[in-house]
Amino acid sequence: MSTIELKYELFREIDSINDENLLHKISSYIKNQLHITNPIAPLYDPESRAYLNEESMQAIEERMNGSFAEMWSAYLYLSMAAYCHANGNPGMGNWFQVQFQEEQDHAKIMFNYIIQRGGHVELKAIDAVPTTWENPLDVFESTLAHEQKVTSLINNLFALTTQENDYATQSMLKWFVDEQVEEEENAQNIIDNLRMIKDNGYG
Ligand code: MG
Repeated sequence: MSTIELKYELFREIDSINDENLLHKISSYIKNQLHITNPIAPLYDPESRAYLNEESMQAIEERMNGSFAEMWSAYLYLSMAAYCHANGNPGMGNWFQVQFQEEQDHAKIMFNYIIQRGGHVELKAIDAVPTTWENPLDVFESTLAHEQKVTSLINNLFALTTQENDYATQSMLKWFVDEQVEEEENAQNIIDNLRMIKDNGYG
């Protein structure tokens, strides 16, 4: 077992202990006897039982509370659904309604994670989204550009967890990293198809 794995195991074990005195004893033992000055859970607090790295948590909370990117994505896709339906593209409208649901699920993953780690989610206003586009191709090009932006937000958070040795948050974010590859690929495929149809003169 590597030192990192051992530290992780220790903190995981601590979480399952219910005796407060024992918790304090173990916490100080780890600190003083094992000389772990930069453990995986440097901010472990036996009282709240939270050992999420504070800086990563703040970044995630800010993202959830401030820009609340996944909810903005949901709102954007609902607006795109409305545009597609009004524009006579019900199939695309339905596709965006599914995206609307998916983005809400993404927001909920972050929401639940913050709660699980003893954080406080404070919901704020969601910024207005565009309501009209030039044509279906424009809608999907905007979708791709938006997902690329979300990818860079996720990457920034992921980089922060590496810097802070916050492996729990990193593990949660890994799902988002993979998801973004799929989101960008989906938008790109639809753009390619729409361009092909247009070039063939059927659009
Ligand atoms: Mg998303």
